Amino acid sequence: MSTTSSPRPFVYVQDRLAVSGVDLTALAAEYGTPLYVYSADAIRERAQMLQQAFAAAAPALSTTLCYAVKANSSLAILKLLAGMGCGFDIVSGGELERVRRAAPKALGRVVFSGVGKQAWEMDAALEAGILLFNVESEAELELLSARAVALQKTARIALRVNPDVFAETHPYISTGLSAHKFGIAIARAREVYKHAASLPGLSPEGVSVHIGSQIRAVEPFGQALQRVRALVEELRSDGIDIQHVDAGGGFGIEYGNGDFDPAASVASYAAELSRVMQGLDATLLLEPGRFLVAQAGALITNVLYTKQNGDKHFVITDAAMNDLIRPALYQAHHEIWPVQKSERAQQTSDIVGPVCESGDFFARDRETTELRSGDLVALLDAGAYGMSLASHYNTRVHPAEVLVENSSARLIRRRETLDELMAAEIV
Ligand SMILES: *Cc1c(COP(=O)(O)O)cnc(C)c1O
Repeated sequence: MSTTSSPRPFVYVQDRLAVSGVDLTALAAEYGTPLYVYSADAIRERAQMLQQAFAAAAPALSTTLCYAVKANSSLAILKLLAGMGCGFDIVSGGELERVRRAAPKALGRVVFSGVGKQAWEMDAALEAGILLFNVESEAELELLSARAVALQKTARIALRVNPDVFAETHPYISTGLSAHKFGIAIARAREVYKHAASLPGLSPEGVSVHIGSQIRAVEPFGQALQRVRALVEELRSDGIDIQHVDAGGGFGIEYGNGDFDPAASVASYAAELSRVMQGLDATLLLEPGRFLVAQAGALITNVLYTKQNGDKHFVITDAAMNDLIRPALYQAHHEIWPVQKSERAQQTSDIVGPVCESGDFFARDRETTELRSGDLVALLDAGAYGMSLASHYNTRVHPAEVLVENSSARLIRRRETLDELMAAEIV
């Protein structure tokens, strides 16, 4: 397996930052800023890494990657991943529609998660013939049964169980404790499956679990899956034929400058899950989001102004929290690199956007080479939960997005116009 020297496709070529041979300064000049840039090669490489890691750890285990659409829901990226055999993990009727438009042939590889599915969303997913509904409550079970009967369809279901496993991550993206809103308590699951099996229009075929996001250790995944496995064995003894085990997503990356070998870390993840799955005759579904796309993307932004307020130095960029909210929402760290390296002195600054909120920052007390008005900087590892969480706050249009593939760049979403932004409004 290849161990690349850097887990990121963004590299300096003669002091200028480039991605897969394409110069970011040139992209910014052509498409403007703020601009999301993604490497198709890097996304493919990650998907292959995961597929190969499981093929190596458990050759007999059939594994399907169901990419978590919410991480980056760009149609072009969905199409790319579908082309690699991926299915999708969706959480809304909107995301289902994205899969339909980008990769209609992959609809049979869709799993539908989420605590608040509505009747119209169930109907659309039933009509589309998705693989599995990950049902998160008993009330949802009743509605899904009714919708399936009304449409004369059968809904293949898994219950999303809450395994009560703690995983170290930011509290907003931890989901596997009973204190969280997600899933059905694993202790009650057997009873709920019995009920599900008695309802018309439902076919219980899977068990699913998802313990959170940006989890770096592999042990919590193993613990959660161990509990799922025990449940699968009980369910089978109850006569419920479980064929799919959905282990969720959540495998993390390194956002800082620490050593990170994605191939090696994913190999230990695959080894852990495979060990737990051994001998359990079931297909394994995985729902990776961040691991596939985060490091493939960067947000390129232009420095508008710099200023000194007392002893604080500020760098004000044309990107803001509405374009990339992770620092404001999760106190997340993103590396910030100058697009053109310089010999200037180091300087400590707060790097902030123009939005009228003190939470609108990308970094606080960050040391970089001195940045000046007109410089471009790259916010790295912005390919996941970047554009998909973008808002129109402060009536700012969404950034444009570019996908770099085979050393050439193509626009996959043009910059929005103010007319489009206000199109649905009625004066
Ligand atoms: C968000 C989410 C994922 C993806 O999480 P990542 O950390 O991006 O891998 C997978 N499954 C479910 C149910 C989710 O809510």
